[in-house]
Amino acid sequence: MDEIPFNRPLLLGSEIDNIRLAHGKGQLAGNGFFTKRCEEWLVRNTDAAGALLTHSCTAALEMAALLCDLEPGDEVIMPSYTFVSTANAFVLRGAVPVFVDIRSDTLNIDETLIESAITARTKAIVVVHYAGVPCEMNAINDIASRHQLIVIEDAAQAILSTYHGKPAGALGDIAAFSFHETKNVISGEGGAIILKNRAHFERAEIIREKGTDRSRFFRGLVDKYTWVDVGSSFLPGEIIAAFLAAQLEKAEEITRQRLQIWHVYHDAFSEHQISGRVQRPVIPENCTHNGHLYYLLLEDLKDRQQFIARMNELGVKCVFHYVPLHSSPGGRRFGRIVGQLQNTDSLSERLVRLPLWIGLKAQQQRVIDAIVRTLKK
Ligand SMILES: *Cc1c(COP(=O)(O)O)cnc(C)c1O
Repeated sequence: MDEIPFNRPLLLGSEIDNIRLAHGKGQLAGNGFFTKRCEEWLVRNTDAAGALLTHSCTAALEMAALLCDLEPGDEVIMPSYTFVSTANAFVLRGAVPVFVDIRSDTLNIDETLIESAITARTKAIVVVHYAGVPCEMNAINDIASRHQLIVIEDAAQAILSTYHGKPAGALGDIAAFSFHETKNVISGEGGAIILKNRAHFERAEIIREKGTDRSRFFRGLVDKYTWVDVGSSFLPGEIIAAFLAAQLEKAEEITRQRLQIWHVYHDAFSEHQISGRVQRPVIPENCTHNGHLYYLLLEDLKDRQQFIARMNELGVKCVFHYVPLHSSPGGRRFGRIVGQLQNTDSLSERLVRLPLWIGLKAQQQRVIDAIVRTLKK
């Protein structure tokens, strides 16, 4: 029997039509027709002052760090249970990631631990909407406004998720999305930065254009363009934007299909949750999610290792993540922790991700049968 992969990047077909159009227009650098089309979609779906495509979510987080005007030694509070770029973007500016523990239900940053991590050097809070499930943003924004901190959403996994009816990307001051091929909506590599306020948007445009006011020049707002601020090249070309535009157009349908697969898993393991064999994901009442990933929590590291090995034998690829940042060589060198990161340490050893991709439907029962057999042992 064929092996069932963990991920299969979504290819609609319509991406090729768009790329052909971009090719025909002969405008291949960034900020053209398709870039604008993607950015308009993002603004519409996040109520933002502006959105800018980037090479990756990593690039968007690096732009966010630049917008924070960090001085070496400034501190940024974040979970340790996240992808390395969440921290690296700020370490590149000389800032110190301050890691706090996650909640045991959503695996998102524990908002009740943030305030005790604040010092005179704290400049920002970075939240990660893990598995596309939004963090407890009312509490987090309240802390941020009392301490005048910038809130950055690492919304890499959270496109079209909502919190109290508001979309991810609209829940803080700045947000970053990813369109990497492992995410819901993709362009191979790709990302976007979402800016809630106009001043951030105008500065982000300059940062993305190598520190020049090129965008304002093309809008006729200045009569020549010149170097005005720090910056770099964070702008993807039109071929990538053309690909992405085709996927964004279908983003709601993609979400719907992923959620279907998610719910089939969730129902299938309900009895294993009741018997205490596994824990399933928890979605808070005030949140909707986007079916980005499905995971199970097993007993311990050994149980998970055996599970992944056995599933491999049965031809189903399952993977774990994240290796926590605070105990990694980089995390020890660049960051510090506040309190004990017990949930981070325990949950990261017990979590296993199941295959979830569009087109899995026909084979999902085989995955479930294999899991049910494996959990019995
Ligand atoms: C995927 C991911 C990233 C990085 O996205 P890229 O587009 O590959 O740079 C960052 N943070 C989180 C939480 C992610 O899941």
